[in-house]
Amino acid sequence: MPTVSIENFAVCTGCEVAVLDIGEALLGLLPKLDFVHAQVLMDNKWWGPRGDKDKLEVASADVGIITGGVRTEEDKHIALDMRKNVKTLISLGMCAVHGGIPALGNMTTRESMIGTVYSTHTTEKGQNPPSGIPALLDRVYAVDEIVKPDLQIPGCPPNPDHIADAVVALLSGKPWSLPEKSVCDDCPTKREKKALVAIKRPLQNPDFKPGAPLAEMRCFNEQGILCNGPATKTGCGGHEKTPRCVAAFMPCRGCMGPIRAGAKPMVDMMGALSSIGLDAKQIEDRMAHFNRYIGSHQNLRVLPKK
Ligand code: SF4
Ligand code: SF4
Ligand code: SF4
Repeated sequence: MPTVSIENFAVCTGCEVAVLDIGEALLGLLPKLDFVHAQVLMDNKWWGPRGDKDKLEVASADVGIITGGVRTEEDKHIALDMRKNVKTLISLGMCAVHGGIPALGNMTTRESMIGTVYSTHTTEKGQNPPSGIPALLDRVYAVDEIVKPDLQIPGCPPNPDHIADAVVALLSGKPWSLPEKSVCDDCPTKREKKALVAIKRPLQNPDFKPGAPLAEMRCFNEQGILCNGPATKTGCGGHEKTPRCVAAFMPCRGCMGPIRAGAKPMVDMMGALSSIGLDAKQIEDRMAHFNRYIGSHQNLRVLPKK
């Protein structure tokens, strides 16, 4: 029976919940898998049962799954050991694939971030713990900046259908990947290639008729509500196809990442917006907005002081 090990680094653990969200299909998969390490499922510590070992031990397995970006020296150590100890390595979720939300921190220095988060609002001047916690790396790294994964499953969180499909493909020795198409390609909204109004302030309500099909609602961007669909890989709807946020009358934030390797979502979005008559320069903080989930790979960097 194939053994599976899951390690989580800089995460919110939504990816682990996505694994549980596989639902009924998970009941079919569980008897075919033997979990040897998974912090969300079992009490299995790296430093021995009581934390009393002096050497960090990473489990060996046929399949290793990493969720989360590489933020600490300990994460890096585990990623390197895991690559040696597992046959197939999967990066699961946007934090692992591109740094995700924690990599927004790459726009500031480690020192300034620690100062802002831990020192600003205290009444007494204290010290950061000098030891006993893993040291932070200079920035958040995607897993593939440290070790080479065999499979990457994007999304924040990833769609459970993709997790199940990828594992089933792996078990039967078949390849698995997502198409290089945009969220717009699966979006049913009405498009007339012309914006009705200029870009609105964030969190404005779209215009739609409750209960009416999505095909009757005008595209968010054409309503002046910023939607990252044109520069984002499709697939978040899983077997249902309809993009998850659009189905909930919300614009796409870009959580599936770029449509293909090497694409630049900020450049693609500026082109898409200007093609319907919108001025992307109106958007404050364009860098963070269009790279919100992909801050590793040097997409987000510390900006020089003005
Ligand atoms: S990818 Fe999203 S859901 Fe998964 S750990 Fe990161 S923030 Fe959480
Ligand atoms: S921009 Fe957004 S609302 Fe418009 S078609 Fe693309 S995904 Fe749909
Ligand atoms: S619509 Fe965009 S932000 Fe929403 S789940 Fe899909 S890819 Fe992610």
